[in-house]
Amino acid sequence: MSKGTIFSIEEFAINDGPGIRTTVFLKGCPLRCAWCHNPEGLSPKPQIFHAMDGDEICGREVEAKDLAADLLKNREFFEMNGGGVTFTGGEPTMQADFLCEVMDLLPGVHKAIETSGYCKPEVFKKILDRLDLVLFDIKHTDPEQHRRWTGVDNAPILANLQTLKLSGKPFVIRVPLIPGVNDSLENMEATRDLVKDAPGLQRLELLRYHKTAGAKYPKVDMEYSPAFDTDAEPAVHDIFGNIKLLIL
Ligand code: SF4
Repeated sequence: MSKGTIFSIEEFAINDGPGIRTTVFLKGCPLRCAWCHNPEGLSPKPQIFHAMDGDEICGREVEAKDLAADLLKNREFFEMNGGGVTFTGGEPTMQADFLCEVMDLLPGVHKAIETSGYCKPEVFKKILDRLDLVLFDIKHTDPEQHRRWTGVDNAPILANLQTLKLSGKPFVIRVPLIPGVNDSLENMEATRDLVKDAPGLQRLELLRYHKTAGAKYPKVDMEYSPAFDTDAEPAVHDIFGNIKLLIL
């Protein structure tokens, strides 16, 4: 039985898949997006968090069977409202063995993941096999710009996106809309063209950048100084045709 490190469990979530869900935040992410609003999810290890009422430890180790038992307490509630469990982070694929073990202990529960898609192809396939829904982020279609703003190459992400499309599994594309970074007409058209014909595509969500993204950085002794204009409004282009679009 493997152990994983999580930093939050939120019940009654309504934006992470169908129905009312429990969202589990797994710690650790290989990306460093300039707009990340969960800096406490970046390090894979528990760490000090300077909360309003004093320091606390953010992150704890948990055994797969204990986490699954906790999540199963809401099974009847999930069945009643069509909900389930969503794993996010950080980047949940970083703890693939633990994640798969937890999912294997949740038979009959609707399971979703929110992912950057940045992991090895065999890891992505193994996780995908166990999922009912994938919330897949596309941050930038241009390799150089992707590296500049997230710290990593987007080739593995695009390869995993292709696997997802071919699998026929239901998926939602999430695009963080960052002013001057990825909101150009060219990038939005390229994003649309990557997914427009996929049978599993449920909708595309544009998540507008919020200035509050930087609020938690001092709490984990990090500095927030993104190299884009945090006061600017991101552009929204009317180019998505038949794709169901949600702007959040
Ligand atoms: S992938 Fe998500 S958690 Fe990781 S750095 Fe980017 S925004 Fe933050």
